[in-house]
Amino acid sequence: MSLPRLLLGVGVDPMDYATHVRVHGELPAAARRSRNGLPPPLVAELTRAALRGRGGGGFPLATKLDVVLRAKGTAVVVVNGTEGEPMSVKDRMLLEALPHLVLDGARCVADALGTNDIVIALDAGLRQATEVLRDALAQRPDARRRGGQPRIVVMPAGYVTGHETAIVNFVNRGIARPTTQPPRVSDRGVSRRPTLVSNAETLAHVALIARRGAEWFRELGPSDEPGSALVTLSGGVRAPGVYEIEYGSELASLVRAAGGMTEPARGFLLGGYGGAWIDATSARTVHLSRRSLAPLGATLGAGVIVALPQSACPVAEVTRVAGWLADESAGQCGPCVNGLASIADTLADVAEGRAGRGAFSDVLRWSELVTGRGACAHPDGTATFVTSALRVFRAEFDDHARHGPCDACARRSVLVTPRERSLAA
Ligand code: SF4
Repeated sequence: MSLPRLLLGVGVDPMDYATHVRVHGELPAAARRSRNGLPPPLVAELTRAALRGRGGGGFPLATKLDVVLRAKGTAVVVVNGTEGEPMSVKDRMLLEALPHLVLDGARCVADALGTNDIVIALDAGLRQATEVLRDALAQRPDARRRGGQPRIVVMPAGYVTGHETAIVNFVNRGIARPTTQPPRVSDRGVSRRPTLVSNAETLAHVALIARRGAEWFRELGPSDEPGSALVTLSGGVRAPGVYEIEYGSELASLVRAAGGMTEPARGFLLGGYGGAWIDATSARTVHLSRRSLAPLGATLGAGVIVALPQSACPVAEVTRVAGWLADESAGQCGPCVNGLASIADTLADVAEGRAGRGAFSDVLRWSELVTGRGACAHPDGTATFVTSALRVFRAEFDDHARHGPCDACARRSVLVTPRERSLAA
């Protein structure tokens, strides 16, 4: 079966349970349960499938499951349905349109871990998804199972509130801020129990692998990175939106599928605001796989792809987002709080043409200094976003440093943050 996989049968309205079963078939129970003390067959199947998390980190799901299985105590499964990445809508779209795929996946891993405890974490901006999930839970055959109903937890919206430790911290103590590890949530998470936190799309893939098996999953994509993924494509393409791609396919073919560019591209942002920029020339031949993107310092991350059109100013775009990222720091790790603010302020000086001579080397040095120095990866992602921009758009940054704002600086933003969204509302 080729594409679509996850998006098979997707429509305008949420897919109800009866339609979901008609499209995908019943969920086989046998593959999920542990027998005679052996690991559940689902873990072996996910190992063969080599399914990696689709929330940004790309960690192998089977490894995560195995760690939680080995930990002492009854596990908790957390569906990470938060979508803090402002340029991503793929998880929201999945939850709103195809809630039963996500719920099936959560049920599969919960069964494999021998638990009934499922928490669905959504951010406060996802009101429609919250309603859809409540309706979807009521439609399911296990809706009346005592003690077996997933619990929906609505988190404050924010860029770092979707980090797995922030979700666990919020469920336990009502504080939506990441925490340092150890202890890892896989050992001591929700209610101090072993906890598996998995992104909504990752669980939707589990729902299909449990039905069709690892070999089917591996029919798409390169052998070291099989399967499909949802991406949110935006910027200067004619038909922005959520697309399901095969890993290893060309970025250029995705742009063609989206109707092509409205004007030539200046560069592409891959992976979102914690991701990296690549230049327009490389974008013509690059493939959407780890192997092809690695030499460019990029990954697909949570599947965000932004095509920056020629008429946009990359300096204005990057500077504005860097300022927002600095403000999104959870304010508890010194290098993150001070380093990101210094980077953002210096970029703002460059954009205005008032920076001193050492501005670029300062930004590069601070970016190196903050990397790996936070309780979460927020400083690392911000550093990658900024340093890749300085590499790809160096001529534009030099020009602003010398002459100040250009005509395009005042154009409508391509990269949006919740701040612009609320101003536009
Ligand atoms: S690194 Fe930054 S965002 Fe992450 S926990 Fe520390 S202060 Fe918060």
